Amino acid sequence: MMENKVYDLLGVGIGPFNLGLAALLTDYPEVETVFLDQKPSFDWHPGMLIVGTRLQVPFMADLVTLANPTNKYSFLNYLAEKNRLYPFYFLQRLDIPRREYNDYCQWVANELENCQFGKRVENVEYNESDSNYVVTVKDVNSGNLEELRCKHLVLGAGTTPSMPKSFQGLPKEDVFHTADFLKYQDRCRKAKSITVVGSGQSAAEAFRELLKERMEHKYQLNWITRSRSFLSMEESKLSVEQFSPDYVKYFYKFSQEEKDRIFASQGLLYKGISSHTITDIYNLLYEHSVCGEELNVGLQVLTEVSGVKEKDGKYELQCHQWQQKKDFTHETEVVIVGTGYRPNVPSFMKNLGEHIQWDDKGRYKVEEDYRLTLNVPNEIYVHSGISHSHGVGSTNLGLAVHRNKIIINHLLGKEVFEMHDKNVFQNFDADKFNSINKGILTD
Ligand SMILES: Cc1cc2nc3c(=O)[nH]c(=O)nc-3n(C[C@H](O)[C@H](O)[C@H](O)COP(=O)(O)OP(=O)(O)OC[C@H]3O[C@@H](n4cnc5c(N)ncnc54)[C@H](O)[C@@H]3O)c2cc1C
Repeated sequence: MMENKVYDLLGVGIGPFNLGLAALLTDYPEVETVFLDQKPSFDWHPGMLIVGTRLQVPFMADLVTLANPTNKYSFLNYLAEKNRLYPFYFLQRLDIPRREYNDYCQWVANELENCQFGKRVENVEYNESDSNYVVTVKDVNSGNLEELRCKHLVLGAGTTPSMPKSFQGLPKEDVFHTADFLKYQDRCRKAKSITVVGSGQSAAEAFRELLKERMEHKYQLNWITRSRSFLSMEESKLSVEQFSPDYVKYFYKFSQEEKDRIFASQGLLYKGISSHTITDIYNLLYEHSVCGEELNVGLQVLTEVSGVKEKDGKYELQCHQWQQKKDFTHETEVVIVGTGYRPNVPSFMKNLGEHIQWDDKGRYKVEEDYRLTLNVPNEIYVHSGISHSHGVGSTNLGLAVHRNKIIINHLLGKEVFEMHDKNVFQNFDADKFNSINKGILTD
């Protein structure tokens, strides 16, 4: 069924990025919007909502505060509405539980009338004669299709767990991605041996959780990484200034080749392990080793797992210690793969191919203000798949709010959010640094 209405903006996906946009747009009721998500309700990485895990950014990186602290969908207002202000006040922490961030976002999603769940965007076509997009939406419960029309789109389809081919096609409850950790935690409790592969934050959190329960469930626990060490994330205050609007602006100006090179050198800003998680793990290992107890835990660095074979209900991992150039096999009953996430660029984007500019690596070209470079006058704003254009902070929750300010300014055609050139202490751009110092010694 085709609706006659033409929305000003239709959002694909309701993760924190589009939810923040929807929340900020409530201050501009003149813009008619609808945001759609295939899930039955808002749920933020449910397989990793482990008790005790915390947001890796301060609570101020909620959906709205960094754009407009007076917006009613702030985290503090959520606490007030839930009568939790005093416990939070006495908690005296900036890093809130991940489960609480999810609950906060669910509260916002339930409040917003323009957010609809159980609706999957299946296709988008550009209608040249009416200058709008025709969006095919499937009701996930009934299977019914409807067509919605909109002037502009905003893509917030997030990421999908990335599982190397060698780990695919095996029983899911035995060989699974960290994204499904809580789903299969009970399976782990019954296993004789478990091996975690990879050494990012998610792998470390899964390992820590398994280590906590190891004494009770008695499994053998192993952790294998190709990295030279269980490296900690760069988390110092001056390092994290790279997750600032200033750095994004600086980064954007480079050529694509230079951006790819810079991005590849910044792995520890997002790929390593939080130092508090490493401390927890070390403390647990120490605790488990007292009284001469047999530890039954193996940590192996410098080792790539290149393949998995099923063998009599167990799994044989083909391993290669790359520094010693030594191959070996390792047997385990459960494998947890912590190999990260990749951008989710829905296949319907390819149908718009003729209107979008793609690079030779299959990535779309993105303008500085987060619009795809298109040959039609109707915009597609993007949150997902923009690390190549906007750098290491593209998936950061705090920077998403800055991005939403830019998108709203563009959508409304006026600067409703003031943009500041200088937001952090350090300079990235040499000209800026020079302009501050110029003339000081000659004056
Ligand atoms: C476990 C984990 C923890 C993280 N913790 C932090 C942190 O502490 N701090 C930080 O700064 N960053 C963190 N990140 C990174 C980042 O903030 C998150 O990935 C964040 O969820 C990104 O938000 P999003 O809106 O892009 O996408 P997502 O949260 O992935 O949401 C995308 C949504 O789009 C929907 N969707 C996709 N395709 C369609 C379609 N065709 N039709 C309808 N709906 C669709 C999906 O159902 C999904 O709900 C974390 C990432 C992970 C994986």
